[in-house]
Amino acid sequence: MAKRRREHLFIETDGQVYLVRDRGTLRFPRKGEELAFPTRAGGTMDFGDDVVRRLKPVLDHHPEEWYQRDALFDRDDVDGLVKRAIYNTMIRCVSEVVVSKGNRVLMVKATRGFSKGHWNLPGGFMDYGEGPEEGVLREAEEETGVRVVLDGPLNVYVSGFPGKPAYSLGFLFRGHATSEEFRPKADEIERVDWFTVDKALTLTRNPFAKWGLVDFFLQSPEARRALRVRRHGLWDGATRAVRPTVFLDRDGVINRGRKGYVRTPDAFEFLPGAIEGMRILQDAGWRLVLVTNQDMMGWKLVPDRQLHRIHEAMLATLRKEGVRLAEIYYCPHHVLSDCACRKPRPGMMLAAARDLGVDPRQAWMVGDKVLDLEFGRAFGCRVAWVGPKEWRDRFAKEAAEWHPDVVADGLLEAARAIAGRPEGPARGRGAGRGAGRARRRGTARS
Ligand SMILES: [Mg+2]
Repeated sequence: MAKRRREHLFIETDGQVYLVRDRGTLRFPRKGEELAFPTRAGGTMDFGDDVVRRLKPVLDHHPEEWYQRDALFDRDDVDGLVKRAIYNTMIRCVSEVVVSKGNRVLMVKATRGFSKGHWNLPGGFMDYGEGPEEGVLREAEEETGVRVVLDGPLNVYVSGFPGKPAYSLGFLFRGHATSEEFRPKADEIERVDWFTVDKALTLTRNPFAKWGLVDFFLQSPEARRALRVRRHGLWDGATRAVRPTVFLDRDGVINRGRKGYVRTPDAFEFLPGAIEGMRILQDAGWRLVLVTNQDMMGWKLVPDRQLHRIHEAMLATLRKEGVRLAEIYYCPHHVLSDCACRKPRPGMMLAAARDLGVDPRQAWMVGDKVLDLEFGRAFGCRVAWVGPKEWRDRFAKEAAEWHPDVVADGLLEAARAIAGRPEGPARGRGAGRGAGRARRRGTARS
């Protein structure tokens, strides 16, 4: 039989912690012990046999008789679990730098540590007591073997774990290298190399690095100019507003996919519930953008003007139904091409960030293929995986690697799930309208 885990209550307000004295030791109150005030639930921390629940007290006065959290570490009459739980809620700082050369950025591949086997931006966890600038320069120079100069801040991000009272802060900087004679630290870094932003995004799995790369892309005229992606032409070419956005794959999400491709407007058949799903998202304040790989164009089976016709017919139906797309981005290349726009490379999403003002932290990708999940994750947004159960059973293992935030039978069910999530756009708040000029966004939750 599984051992009963003990539940401890970590109650804190204004840097003051509520503890009880138990035979000379100060400890957390336990579940079931009476409290003299009501509380609201917070996150949970797991310490094996012990679970610590964080609670917010509802008080009408400042509790002078409680204990200062910072003073508890020095005392030897404080239970070890109290110290460990307080330590766990301390924010960890990560500092990273986008070292660029034209439209390319420098990445390092780690052989050990937290990002072993993965590419990342130079930088990492700060030592305690170390400032973000000082720390990132130390890390970058250790990793690359060359001197790095910071050109300015890019942004600050917050990343948390759902339901856990633990966060990290990511400080991202722009910078340049004073030499290209890289001497990577032998026991830590396997390779150092330059990549375009779209490629770099597929290589790193660190959310701070992803958001920093997207912000770098938006601030770099060379990178913005170098990215060429085809679009239908719905966007007016000028209006840019940071608004919550749902990216939709086309075949298998909006319309029925066909073995020999959808080559004519007549072959385009909406899936049941797809239009309704789009309307639900739109009514909940989400902007809709279509992103589709069109291999058939790469194989020269269908010319550009024919794809345009197919999309015009689709748009006419959507207009009648009151659904509006902000833009359709498409990749006209075939499977073997090494272009920035073919999913899972995130070129189409970067183009939407540049043109329309999409923020990955306020975006979803809905797709039926595993490459759609990979594509959404590359950009650093949330992902929904849709398709009939038999389809999902077939690819369940591959899809699980990308941890879809929503799994659903179709667009309608996915739309209901996305629209019902608490972090969605608030209705009636203008959903960021006019925020296009104010690009400095401060912090955002992951
Ligand atoms: Mg598809």
